[in-house]
Amino acid sequence: MVGKGILSFCLGRVIPSRCQGCRSPSVASLCDRCLEKVKVMEGTCARCGLPYPQNVPICGACVGKRFYLDSVVSLYLYRSPLKEVIHRWKYHRSHRSWVLVRDLFLSALEAKGEVLKALSAHGVVPVPLHWRRRWVREFNQSKMIGALAGDFLSLPVMEAVKRVRHTPPQRASSFRRRQENIRGAFVLTENVKGKSILVVDDVATTLATASEIGRVLMKGGALEVHLLVLARAVR
Ligand SMILES: [Zn+2]
Ligand SMILES: [Zn+2]
Repeated sequence: MVGKGILSFCLGRVIPSRCQGCRSPSVASLCDRCLEKVKVMEGTCARCGLPYPQNVPICGACVGKRFYLDSVVSLYLYRSPLKEVIHRWKYHRSHRSWVLVRDLFLSALEAKGEVLKALSAHGVVPVPLHWRRRWVREFNQSKMIGALAGDFLSLPVMEAVKRVRHTPPQRASSFRRRQENIRGAFVLTENVKGKSILVVDDVATTLATASEIGRVLMKGGALEVHLLVLARAVR
């Protein structure tokens, strides 16, 4: 015990705890200044999940756009410091970052509990990764938060769609370009006839991926498809 105490004391001296956002010394995962910047979104557009001064069924940016999604519930904005935390979780497999993401996700589920329960979903479908990316990353981040959402809403986590085509990351392209690029990337693997589905993703930018999954689920007879996204990117 004494040895362990000395070891952790020494490690603490060598590797001081840092804020996961700004990297300044901090005992908490996020310092007060960074924590201030991570707030559950309040006003949003129900169709695209982008921020809006108040909750609206449709915003100007959505007019004329066809999403295969009945609604989008976004929890946080994809910006610093959450952006860096998600990055370290996904690409550096930081356990400390995962714990923070998990806690932020769970507290946002509490905050949006009523909205989520009102969707009356039958199951949660995490956005699947292509096996190649899954193999490199060793985990599917959407599945990790999808399991938490399933627990919170007492819903089964379904693997109703499978990614059959690898699509390269396409951060800079437009919704239409992405939509064309992602078409045919998913196939249905479970019966979803008459079911209301809650798709879960960690980050959403153009919604092209979620919308393509929505299209596949609706083609398979899903009654409704909603999207729950941890961090909504604003372009
Ligand atoms: Zn900080
Ligand atoms: Zn909108």
